[in-house]
Amino acid sequence: MSVLVVTGGGRGIGAATARAAAAASWDLCLGYRADRAAAEAVAADCAALGVQTAVVQADVAMEMDVIDLFVQAEELGPVRGLVNNAGIVTPRKTVAELESEDLEEVFGVNVFGAFFCAREAVRLMQRDGEGGAIVNVSSRAAVLGSPGEYVDYAASKAAVDALTTGLAKEVAGDGIRVNAVRPGLIETEIHASVGRPERLVELAPTVPLGRPGTADEVAGAIVWLLSPAASYVTGAFLDIGGGR
Ligand code: NDP
Repeated sequence: MSVLVVTGGGRGIGAATARAAAAASWDLCLGYRADRAAAEAVAADCAALGVQTAVVQADVAMEMDVIDLFVQAEELGPVRGLVNNAGIVTPRKTVAELESEDLEEVFGVNVFGAFFCAREAVRLMQRDGEGGAIVNVSSRAAVLGSPGEYVDYAASKAAVDALTTGLAKEVAGDGIRVNAVRPGLIETEIHASVGRPERLVELAPTVPLGRPGTADEVAGAIVWLLSPAASYVTGAFLDIGGGR
């Protein structure tokens, strides 16, 4: 079977995507940065569905970690898919308050990490000549700008969007599709990670569907974009924001 690499596969959208991809018969290589136990628990759920799994420590901001992640993924089988999911938000600041360390951190993970992973995946897919599919996890913030809280994050996700557009055209001739999802307000730990769990409640009334989304609701769209059902979709952006 074909191997799907999911970065940040231990929790939130990455974990939900891994489980949904296992249900669609993908073998899974789950990358994690810090929480091995969480990633192993997700891998166990996937293995229970009859697919092969591997769990690999990889900080996506570290180029050598990413290279090793794909070496280990290949040991499972041919890599035909990547979900560039790992991402961070830095604590709320205006642009006037940002330090260079904030920018290095958020761009290191969200932009350098996405580029390193996309590059390694494309190299393997081009070498094998069998095509593949990449889904980048962007954000509605790339379009909305997140003024007053996360403009640095929004700009990093706009870079992910440009990666999606450009790479899709570069590798279309190799049978590799590259798309992005732009989640809106999704119930995961990312909000608490920057001390703002209340954001989910505060912003819910601004969502036309009237509630935050779930990680499973994002995962379903990602797995569809990876699937043969999306065989004519590349360079596309799928907003999953409840209409916001
Ligand atoms: P979580 O905070 O729940 O999960 C983030 C994941 O990224 C964790 O698995 C974490 O791994 C991993 N991660 C963080 N930094 C690194 C790193 N340097 N190297 C490898 N892995 C890393 O957040 P979500 O599930 O919500 O976020 C997933 C993606 O969705 C992100 O790209 C985020 O920007 C995007 N998104 C989320 C939205 C939301 O409202 N939740 C909205 C729009 C986009 P570990 O646990 O091992 O540290």
